Amino acid sequence: MAKLIEVEALRAGYGAINVLWDISLSAEEGKLTCILGPNGGGKTTLMRAIMGLIPVRSGKIRFNGHEVANLPTWDMVADGVTMIPEGRMIFRDMTVEDNLLIGGFVRRARPRARKNLEIAYDMFPRLKERRHQLASSLSGGEMQMLAMGRGLMEEPKLILVDEPSLGLAPVVVDEVMTILDRLRQQGRTIILVEQNTNKALEVADHVYLVRGGKVVLSEPAANVDLDRLHDLYFARDI
Ligand code: ATP
Repeated sequence: MAKLIEVEALRAGYGAINVLWDISLSAEEGKLTCILGPNGGGKTTLMRAIMGLIPVRSGKIRFNGHEVANLPTWDMVADGVTMIPEGRMIFRDMTVEDNLLIGGFVRRARPRARKNLEIAYDMFPRLKERRHQLASSLSGGEMQMLAMGRGLMEEPKLILVDEPSLGLAPVVVDEVMTILDRLRQQGRTIILVEQNTNKALEVADHVYLVRGGKVVLSEPAANVDLDRLHDLYFARDI
């Protein structure tokens, strides 16, 4: 299977603080790649660096056959990378439908925005029921669905999902994971950042564990030894 994105020896951080230390990983086309790791390990920073939201200090990012490190975010979006950010970042004072249509505004997908809206509503029937409501009136789980629906409206080639289960009740987390699994079965390429190890392992094809801005484990999800993962996750000396 072809690699859709390859990150090589990437360094990035904030001001005087470097967070990612020569991190290398990749995601195969049509697979769900999961990035696990404790708080502050650098997972969100990695997503931001890929999206061009913070500068890449050194290293390479190859997406769909070309080098994209330090491309502006709008070029990444135009190239087909969408990020469903931690915290969801929905427009609370707009309706559910207008939030979705914002995703459909990307030039590549704009001609099919109405059709993609129906596809999003098929996947998230609750959003259809609430399409004229303000987004601020949604539950946390519905807001996560909205953020995912908005991302899908962009017709992405690569979907980056940052901690979708954050702050959600267990039953809602299951719903979110079921949707990610369905997207995976549709052959979409997904990078999922998660702290919920057990849930993530249920849907992942490949797993990376990131700690201290480095990859400390890279394995097919089916081969992951939970005890070893646990030890590496909580180790004190990395
Ligand atoms: P979490 O699950 O808590 O989001 P994470 O693995 O995604 O963890 P990051 O959010 O990437 O971790 O944070 C990595 C490090 O960078 C942390 O030490 C954090 O304090 C720091 N950091 C994150 N954002 C900023 C910022 N805007 N300015 C300065 N430091 C930051």
